[in-house]
Amino acid sequence: MIQDIEPKVYNNHYFPGKKPSAASYVIFYDERRIYCSTEGGKLALPRLGEIGGVSGEFTYLFSIDGDEFYLASASAPAREGWDYAPLFAIQRLKPQHLAFAAMEAYSLAGWYSSNRFCGHCGGKMAHSETERALQCPACGNLIYPKICPVVIVGVRSGDKLLLTKYKGRPEVPFFALVAGFAEIGERIEDTVRREVMEETGVHVKNLHFYKSQPWALSDSLLMGFFCDLDGDESDVHADEDELSVAQWVSREDIPNRDDGFALTAEMIEYFRVNGKGEY
Ligand SMILES: [Zn+2]
Repeated sequence: MIQDIEPKVYNNHYFPGKKPSAASYVIFYDERRIYCSTEGGKLALPRLGEIGGVSGEFTYLFSIDGDEFYLASASAPAREGWDYAPLFAIQRLKPQHLAFAAMEAYSLAGWYSSNRFCGHCGGKMAHSETERALQCPACGNLIYPKICPVVIVGVRSGDKLLLTKYKGRPEVPFFALVAGFAEIGERIEDTVRREVMEETGVHVKNLHFYKSQPWALSDSLLMGFFCDLDGDESDVHADEDELSVAQWVSREDIPNRDDGFALTAEMIEYFRVNGKGEY
């Protein structure tokens, strides 16, 4: 998956006040886009030493191996072959660790951008001096980066998997799994049961955690579960508001769409190859 960049190591420890060097990567963010080059299908992000005359504030984001990434407050300089691009245009490009860095930087940049003022008193927020947080000097309101828990659910019935298609999203024509956000006060296991019931009308049992995936586009942490149908296959009916399709598909009829990027595709492929299997 996109975050599996080993042997490289992503380190999100925050260093307050850390300053970039000429070798540091600089993230320019504007209107949900990241400044980069995608020439020849290869992703490049700018290093500070390559771009002259950038002033303003630099906020330390994270490191990958020895490379540090900073968010720039200034606009990107004009540069031949470089421009702002949305994540969908860059997230599958190589090298993978830079695509992953772009995704995580996108999530943090969006959070900083949306929390410039205090939601409590309207004052201007400031960086915490001890941790990755924003604090209001006037009222003390403390804001941490937003991470929304989401479940991805593979519902099994013998050798079949319950596959879905989103309604009104022709750009996603392939099968997905039941998915949804956790609600306040809810155990994540109950999120699984509720989302499966709401989207497809069936009860489930034997919940097992599979893997998780950070998902920058929705500031989420996806949590993948497999579970078994508790009832009849014929109980399934797609929630008309969210889905156009919810149907049981036998292992041999499941298409292989796993490109090593997303948890949903990996889970579908895992079931296609292994059935219930061990994990
Ligand atoms: Zn305040």
